[in-house]
Amino acid sequence: MVRVGIVGAAGRMGRAVADAVSADPGLELVAAVDPAGAGAVLHGVEVAPELRALAGAGAQVVVDFTVADAARTTLPWLAMHGMHAVVGTTGFSDDDLAAFRSAFTASNCVIAANFAIGAVLMMRFAEMAAPWFDSVEIVEIHHDQKVDAPSGTALETARRIASSSSDWAADPTRKVVVGGARGGRGPGGVPIHSLRVRGTVANQEVVFGAQGQTLTIRHDTVDRTSFMPGVVLACKKVAERKGVTLGLGDLLGL
Ligand code: NAD
Repeated sequence: MVRVGIVGAAGRMGRAVADAVSADPGLELVAAVDPAGAGAVLHGVEVAPELRALAGAGAQVVVDFTVADAARTTLPWLAMHGMHAVVGTTGFSDDDLAAFRSAFTASNCVIAANFAIGAVLMMRFAEMAAPWFDSVEIVEIHHDQKVDAPSGTALETARRIASSSSDWAADPTRKVVVGGARGGRGPGGVPIHSLRVRGTVANQEVVFGAQGQTLTIRHDTVDRTSFMPGVVLACKKVAERKGVTLGLGDLLGL
């Protein structure tokens, strides 16, 4: 039985993780931390305001779904206390990832921008398609409470596409009438367009084009439970994955 703590336990994802951990016979929810929800009780565990509750409860694996600013403090703290981390928080820079790699030496960390199997496959398919097309643009659509843009999934998709091909047609735009109309440039210069739309959860399209044809790879998350099988799997596997593992692909053999 793996003893699991949650940081960001009062958030939308944190509460879904608490439900999933409590429902899994191989995991036990032992601690929950979130200053915004301190005092509330989740599946019999009182939400604490500070990280030290995780050590007090003997958490072996800690799941973090917060904001990048908070995780920059939390993750080195977990590493220092020998706890494994499963991280869904997005908005990290390459420097952040390098810092996490140096911190996690005695325990391990799995960081995934998207824990939904369909999104992992979308990224893999995009990587496979990239060498065969001349144009690519990413459109990501998220709910209207999301604080970072573009999404971690869009950035990771752009990274994968860029690692698979750098041979893209030039952007024909000569005059931008409305600033930002052509989106932002992600890794490898891949254009990313971020939409924030009330009523949605998380959606992404990767649109490829070549002579006379297009290929659109689309993934839609309609409910946060879509992320939970991936989170539960990472909680069970993180102890076996030395250091920092990026993405769920490795754990799924993709
Ligand atoms: P949310 O705003 O509902 O929840 C975030 C919670 O973190 C809040 O309750 C807040 O009080 C808490 N928090 C902030 N600072 C904290 C700290 N220092 N210590 C403890 N708790 C702290 O947001 P959300 O929709 O649950 O998303 C959380 C994160 O997960 C975001 O970064 C989002 O992009 C990411 N996300 C990732 C995936 C994935 O599959 N990897 C899926 C959905 C969302």
